[in-house]
Amino acid sequence: MDCDKCGRESVMHAAYSGLHLCEEHFLASVDKRVRRRVREDGLVPDDATPEDPQTWVVGLSGGKDSVVLTDVLHRTFEKDPRIELVALTIHEGIEGYRDESVDACVELTDELGLRHELVTYEEEFDVRMDDVVESDPENMAACAYCGVFRRDLLSRYAEELGADKLLTGHNLDDEAETALMNFLEGDVAQIAKHFDASLGAFDERASDDDPTRETGDHFVPRAKPLRDVPEKEVALYAHLADLPAQITECPHASEAYRGEIQELLYQLEENHPGTRHSIMAGYEELAALAAEEFGAREEGSTDLGECERCGSSTTRDVCRKCSLLDSIHAA
Ligand SMILES: [Zn+2]
Ligand SMILES: [Zn+2]
Repeated sequence: MDCDKCGRESVMHAAYSGLHLCEEHFLASVDKRVRRRVREDGLVPDDATPEDPQTWVVGLSGGKDSVVLTDVLHRTFEKDPRIELVALTIHEGIEGYRDESVDACVELTDELGLRHELVTYEEEFDVRMDDVVESDPENMAACAYCGVFRRDLLSRYAEELGADKLLTGHNLDDEAETALMNFLEGDVAQIAKHFDASLGAFDERASDDDPTRETGDHFVPRAKPLRDVPEKEVALYAHLADLPAQITECPHASEAYRGEIQELLYQLEENHPGTRHSIMAGYEELAALAAEEFGAREEGSTDLGECERCGSSTTRDVCRKCSLLDSIHAA
């Protein structure tokens, strides 16, 4: 088939849009979708100036998603002195696998001339995921431990690096899977959080005079500008643009339920192209409504305190991360 834009040979066909695109027009279409997301989410505030630039910390794992996001953002803002990008990589202590992807991160950031920060579970927590998987004191999936530690380091270092935004490379498939999982688990509180975590919500709430709806100074707002791009297209982009991206999967990956959802979503998309897009459109609208309702319910009940160990905000005396560290170190 020929490219719908120029007639050259196409490299991809997107069933959800009906478009056939050649290499050049495909790459441009991904850039365009990321840039539109940046614009529509209002990521560059009106008052950003070259004298007072915004710092954006990008979570760079070395996988295709974060590598493509970093590359597109770099080219988008290379000549824009209002935005400074910093890449942040986390080493979980997974030998071989993570060493390889750290190499990919170093190669990319060297090539682009980006500042690159590397933090490790070992130095931060005296923990290596390879050992945690062995001892498994809480009888959980590896990803359950790892996610708690990763979230902690991402937000802590985003703050430390003076980030105005923390950007991650979630793609359309990731987001649609998570949305579907939250639906199927009936987890409305989690759905409301999706709205809290998105920037539209942050801006709206920050301008809101009601202090109970303040997102808080110590939370760096999150953004996922790759969330309109399907996983397959992210992989194709990394390949065509010849980006250094690691393709092997984490050896400890064990999210069985997500795997089932992935398969289900794949079938739905095959039979009904556009399903992922419509799930997300509905989900974002629903999340906004749920957040409103939850915000109203939580008013007056300020049971969010500080962890007595590390100071993170938590509803308990000791936060989840600190209690996990306790049981890991006791094992
Ligand atoms: Zn073309
Ligand atoms: Zn803590």
